[in-house]
Amino acid sequence: MSLIVQKFGGSSVADAESIKRIASRIVETRAAGHEVVVVVSAMGDMTDELLDLAEQVVPSVPSGRELDMLLTAGERISMALLALAIKNLGVEARSYTGSQAGMMTDAQHGSARIVDVTPGRVREALDIGAVAIVAGFQGFNRLTGDITTLGRGGSDTTAVALAAALDAEVCEIYTDVDGVFTADPRVVPKARKIDRITSEEMLELAAAGAKVLYIRAVEYARRHGVTLHVRSSFNHNEGTLVVNPKEGEIVEEPIITGVAADLSEDKITVVGVPDVPGKAAQIFTIVAQTNANIDMIVQNVSTTLNGLADISFTLPKSDAPGALAALNSQKEAIGFESLQHDDKIGKLAVVGAGMRTNAGVSARLFTALYEAGINIEMISTSEIRISVVTRAETINEALRVVHTAFGLDADTDAVVHGGTGR
Ligand code: ADP
Ligand code: ASP
Ligand code: MG
Repeated sequence: MSLIVQKFGGSSVADAESIKRIASRIVETRAAGHEVVVVVSAMGDMTDELLDLAEQVVPSVPSGRELDMLLTAGERISMALLALAIKNLGVEARSYTGSQAGMMTDAQHGSARIVDVTPGRVREALDIGAVAIVAGFQGFNRLTGDITTLGRGGSDTTAVALAAALDAEVCEIYTDVDGVFTADPRVVPKARKIDRITSEEMLELAAAGAKVLYIRAVEYARRHGVTLHVRSSFNHNEGTLVVNPKEGEIVEEPIITGVAADLSEDKITVVGVPDVPGKAAQIFTIVAQTNANIDMIVQNVSTTLNGLADISFTLPKSDAPGALAALNSQKEAIGFESLQHDDKIGKLAVVGAGMRTNAGVSARLFTALYEAGINIEMISTSEIRISVVTRAETINEALRVVHTAFGLDADTDAVVHGGTGR
């Protein structure tokens, strides 16, 4: 009997009807002779709605114990409703919170990392023939005794961690689109479904903003050799397999696998920095002390002969206020002229392992953007990715023209089955 982990995202459990629909699907998998562990997200946009509610009580509420208590309530609701729906179909089902399922994490509220998985109770449920249902996105810290959350999108990580701990045959991620596409089908209607993608490329796409899979879940799956199958909960089509090729195994590598956009970062420019050794070290040490996660960095040496440079960097929006305050408090010591904060940037990335062996990818990218009249403000590259920063308002058009320029357009429009895209 093989064990399958099935994770259902918010749009797949958005209302009572959806919960009944996936209950039948789970029962089908059980009836086909598999052991089934289900991981659920909160219903629809409930996590966002709970966050909105918290904001109404306390504006800019920081991550912490109480916020995690609030947000984890969402997954508890869907796990219990789903267990009831499955039992109603005559199949035994048991729901478990993250801590009951043995999801042990560090104490970092809002973005806790899994340190150990002890799914004893899940195993017991399976042993009596029940379907085990686990609340996604949540864990437990042994030292503090508190409930934690794994970061937005973290139900994916719960599913992968359980699949690894229980040695599942596959971890199925059910969502509102048919798989991983060459671009977000909500933005690029001509996006094409990818049948097979390497975990390396998937990691880069997730890091570049393709939220169909949470980056930490892809990392975890890669480290533990878990095969992911991303598919729709609205039909039975084959989805996308995320595979971990063995060393030496030949996999077909398109030059460009996909494009992604990210609107979650801001840009800070430190204007008029003395162009002498040690200044970058000073600036980034100060920013690092605020725990900001710096992404792209560009330094322009000023053309006026005043010996001053500008240093720009991007970072998550939520990290910007802290970084700005820290830099301002050290203005004299660093000796810069002023700070600029730009919260209207968008980042576009093209990803493809074939880039390693093909020249001309940057030229094609920049030409496509130029022809659409889109200005490039920053550029960074990795071995299999090129990212550019543009104005936020042009990012969707940028995605579409780049998708076309790399010949990724499908003949027909992609189908989005549900969800609000929030
Ligand atoms: P779930 O609630 O099931 O976890 P998410 O909203 O987290 O679903 O992820 C699915 C969404 O990811 C899709 O509806 C789609 O809009 C978006 N998305 C972004 N990039 C991609 C991509 N490359 N392929 C597929 N979906 C993508
Ligand atoms: N409900 C959580 C969120 O919206 C976790 C998840 O859906 O993966 O981020
Ligand atoms: Mg998700």
